[in-house]
Amino acid sequence: MNTMFDGETTEFDCPNCGQKITATVGRLKRGDYSCPNCGAVADTKELNRTLDQADRDAAEAERKIKKILGG
Ligand SMILES: [Zn+2]
Repeated sequence: MNTMFDGETTEFDCPNCGQKITATVGRLKRGDYSCPNCGAVADTKELNRTLDQADRDAAEAERKIKKILGG
């Protein structure tokens, strides 16, 4: 599923070697991201859970805003 966050770039440290990794959220969500330095595969499960929650929160916020604005 594509979300509004897919195009966002995120930065994190490789849990294995500490290399700073920059990748788009959409790329990470596919779950096949490996560190360019050591080849460790990033665990994107927690990221996906967080994104799902953020997506629901954003959708809920949008509904509330539209209600307030009468849209
Ligand atoms: Zn690494």
